[in-house]
Amino acid sequence: MFSRSVVYFKDVAGCDEAKQEVMDFVHFLKSPKKYEDLGAKTPKGALLVGPPGMGKTLLAKATTGESGVPFLSISGSDFIEMFIGIGPSRVRNLFQEAQWCAPCIVVIDEIDAIGGARGRGSFSGANDERGRTLNQLLVEMDGFNPTSEVVVLAGTNRPDIIDKALLRPGRFNRQISIDKPGINGREQIFQIYLKAIKLDGGPLYFSQRLAALTPGFAGADIANVCNEAALIAARNEATKVKMDHFEAAIDRVIGGLEKKNKVINNFERVIVACHQSGHAVAGWYLQHAEPF
Ligand code: ADP
Repeated sequence: MFSRSVVYFKDVAGCDEAKQEVMDFVHFLKSPKKYEDLGAKTPKGALLVGPPGMGKTLLAKATTGESGVPFLSISGSDFIEMFIGIGPSRVRNLFQEAQWCAPCIVVIDEIDAIGGARGRGSFSGANDERGRTLNQLLVEMDGFNPTSEVVVLAGTNRPDIIDKALLRPGRFNRQISIDKPGINGREQIFQIYLKAIKLDGGPLYFSQRLAALTPGFAGADIANVCNEAALIAARNEATKVKMDHFEAAIDRVIGGLEKKNKVINNFERVIVACHQSGHAVAGWYLQHAEPF
């Protein structure tokens, strides 16, 4: 079943380089004729690479939203079933459906489930089925005639195990990497999620301070912190969400639930404090580290 995206580039904060890369697909899907007239072949697909929760799926959906075309979305693991032959036939059906509603975008999440290099690991039935599914995918991507207006965007957090055949020109010949957001990227992501929250103060103050407090956080973690802070505020019967609630939420996301019955003595507390101050001091003075 195809659907229409309600996500746009404005909903994806940061990742400006990645947006720039997918812009080509947007232009092509919006006015394919311009490309055809010039005899240009546009790339058929792109592989979005990055750790989990970075917004790969979100960016793929935003691309469909910006292009104004429908999209078909499926996860790599949906192709792998217990029954032999289901995977390849699902791939065939998917591409058939895509041809019917072209111009459109096919979004495949976690493509490493099928696209992992063949011939690795032990020889088993499941592996064989995966190989066949991958073969079918390769065939379908080659099978598009050069002007067919179907673009495939696939996401993975394991680019190292992707079969090389998938990466050759004419298939996923573009790799777009999405890395962890820096302090500015995090601030922008906070600004998106803070909009929905009733804050005790200006949103700019919150977004700047929270971005500094969350080095190494992915977009999904930030969305989680904002929601968690609102939940903590509600639990404490507060009418607005305060910085304390956000700090508790960050601690919770980093360290899990507070263990009230796990008491540490004063000596252990001093050791932990010295250790953590070491991180802070080093972070402050090192040129390329995040200030904390
Ligand atoms: P991935 O596919 O990389 O594992 P997703 O695209 O599924 O990650 O992202 C999970 C959630 O994290 C999204 O639904 C969104 O709420 C949030 N998110 C991640 N990155 C961003 C971003 N750059 N801007 C806004 N929200 C983001």
